[in-house]
Amino acid sequence: MAEAERQVAHERAIVRWLAANPPPVADPNTCAHCRQPETRDAALLPFLAGDDTHRWVHGRCWSDWHRTRRLAAERALAAARDDTGPRSAA
Ligand SMILES: [Zn+2]
Repeated sequence: MAEAERQVAHERAIVRWLAANPPPVADPNTCAHCRQPETRDAALLPFLAGDDTHRWVHGRCWSDWHRTRRLAAERALAAARDDTGPRSAA
């Protein structure tokens, strides 16, 4: 498989994992990342959770929230790869 195709397959796997593993539904009055309420300086914004639902996250928290979600997906996919790798099949 070409590197570009591998990259696309990896991205698809991440998107599928994010859709299959939406974050727990949090209190809509607090940020899904830092659990703090909305303030005058930090508005809560709706961000798609990957499964057509959304979570309320501070605009400034979004990149950390998204990175945390992606990291969880990367870890889960790596663990799944290890489980079905050639070593465990032997
Ligand atoms: Zn926040």
